[in-house]
Amino acid sequence: MNFPSTLVEEAVNELSGLPGIGKKTALRLVLHLLKQDMPHVEKFGNAFIRLRKNIIYCKECHNLSDREVCDICLSDKRDPGIICVVEDVRDVMAIENTGQFHGKYHVLGGIISPMNGIGPSDLQIESLVHKVLSGRVTEVIMALSTTIEGDTTVFYVYKKLSKLIEGHLKYTVIARGVAIGDELEYADEVTLGRSILNRVPFSKS
Ligand SMILES: [Zn+2]
Repeated sequence: MNFPSTLVEEAVNELSGLPGIGKKTALRLVLHLLKQDMPHVEKFGNAFIRLRKNIIYCKECHNLSDREVCDICLSDKRDPGIICVVEDVRDVMAIENTGQFHGKYHVLGGIISPMNGIGPSDLQIESLVHKVLSGRVTEVIMALSTTIEGDTTVFYVYKKLSKLIEGHLKYTVIARGVAIGDELEYADEVTLGRSILNRVPFSKS
């Protein structure tokens, strides 16, 4: 792309660095922003700066939050004995939309992916194990993508919790109504809701 202005080029480069946005789309967005009045553009830019500066990760479940502990963790209407383990905030939002889950969450912040250089220590796995060991947790539901990385993560956590699983702890995975390779956030609400209700005990084979 030959740009008539380095300012336009810089803006396009920044936007096209975002996932799912190519140079053409980035240029269209930049030209759109150029037509907006100044207060609008400032509000737009400031929203991202404020987001990055002020966002808090809930210290209990690691979900994005405005406060130290998020609303779901604070709620006494949610069962603290059932923990649904997910990859990121999009999954929490998708599962909340189903209205079928009334326990609490634990957000790993990703899944184990050697290809992308993500190992167990990059994720919130130790704090999950700690929570399960020290709390009154009766069930851990693994609601991860049905990919090799998702399966690897489910197995890794299983090994970490195996002593407890041999005892009283239920360790389940969501039903595979979510097709293999699908990401949770793309599953429709009815299917996702059903996969949680029809969760099954994890089996190693
Ligand atoms: Zn929380």
